[in-house]
Amino acid sequence: MRISRNPTRSVRIGSIEIGAAHPISVQSMTATHTQNIDATVGQVNALHAAGADIVRIAVDSDKDAAALAEIRAQTSANLSVDLQENYRLAAKVAPHVDKIRYNPGHLYHHEKSRPWQEKVAFIANVAQEHDCAIRIGVNCGSIDPAKKSKFDPADAIGPILESGLEHCEYLEELGFTRFVVSMKDSDPSQVVTINQQFAARRPDIPLHLGVTEAGLPPDGIIKTRIAFEQLIGRGIGDTIRVSLTVPNPRKPEEIQAGRSILDDIYAGRLRSVVALDPTALNIISCPSCSRVENEAFVELAQDVKEMTQYAKNHAITIAVMGCRVNGPGETDDADLGLWCGPTRVNLKKGEESLGAFPYDEILGKLKAELDKIIAQREAV
Ligand code: SF4
Repeated sequence: MRISRNPTRSVRIGSIEIGAAHPISVQSMTATHTQNIDATVGQVNALHAAGADIVRIAVDSDKDAAALAEIRAQTSANLSVDLQENYRLAAKVAPHVDKIRYNPGHLYHHEKSRPWQEKVAFIANVAQEHDCAIRIGVNCGSIDPAKKSKFDPADAIGPILESGLEHCEYLEELGFTRFVVSMKDSDPSQVVTINQQFAARRPDIPLHLGVTEAGLPPDGIIKTRIAFEQLIGRGIGDTIRVSLTVPNPRKPEEIQAGRSILDDIYAGRLRSVVALDPTALNIISCPSCSRVENEAFVELAQDVKEMTQYAKNHAITIAVMGCRVNGPGETDDADLGLWCGPTRVNLKKGEESLGAFPYDEILGKLKAELDKIIAQREAV
């Protein structure tokens, strides 16, 4: 299939270029503890050997940043790093990576009195100094509350889009143009709309596509395919990640899925049925990363999927997240949410916390809440 790609600018990330007429690159992320250098190097190199153009690593502390220096020395993969609240870590990681990802929605947590513009300027300076690109990574589950409050609560797209556009303009004001943007949601149709609207406004900026918390294969691959076929088929998208909940050590499933979707799109083999069934049960789960505190997370996601099959014809969303960093926020929009701690799993109904329960009790608690929701809806 002949696809005319959006004429974006080209952004170099280590040894590859993203955007313009360059091939769409495929990414993945490690799920090892970053300070476990041997395991992380092993996973980075396995992903690289499987065809990952860029491998992302999560860094949350000075010790993680120190480990990154060692990891860098032992791999030739293009490395990207995922910053969370502490934007100052950028200075410690930039010498060892090719791209820094920051989330505009996380910048307000750390040094609250400091305006986000100063934090972005800090990251941009560091990136410039160390020859790094930047990804502005906006995520539906972690929008800056100030930005969210400007929009109608039913408008999921407005805050994400405005946040992405605002940060692009600000980086450009600073004279920094070596960046890409991602705007992710767990709903593929929202991903399509957001990225189409962004590309209409800023066709010059390369886009990193992904469906966040797509979940377990094969459902996670199907959700991602739905979004990618509609976007890439229209020339939108320059780099991709298929985020899958798979057991550690992470195998190259994400890379294989990404390459297979791209091959099919270019061969004209479009398989998606335009949209997911909105009347069906929807299980979303994060792909896990170094922040997971209990390796039972992936098994729990699989158990949740299996246990809830009896409710498959109900339009209920259940989110299963691997950690305390993003879990609490990214379960807010689900009907029922689980996020994993070291020994307990936190259960939520919408934004309301229902308590934390041992791993061997959580399925029973979840089932009880699911039954209540079904009974309430059937009583209406
Ligand atoms: Fe990693 Fe936590 Fe996000 Fe899961 S929710 S991918 S464990 S940061």
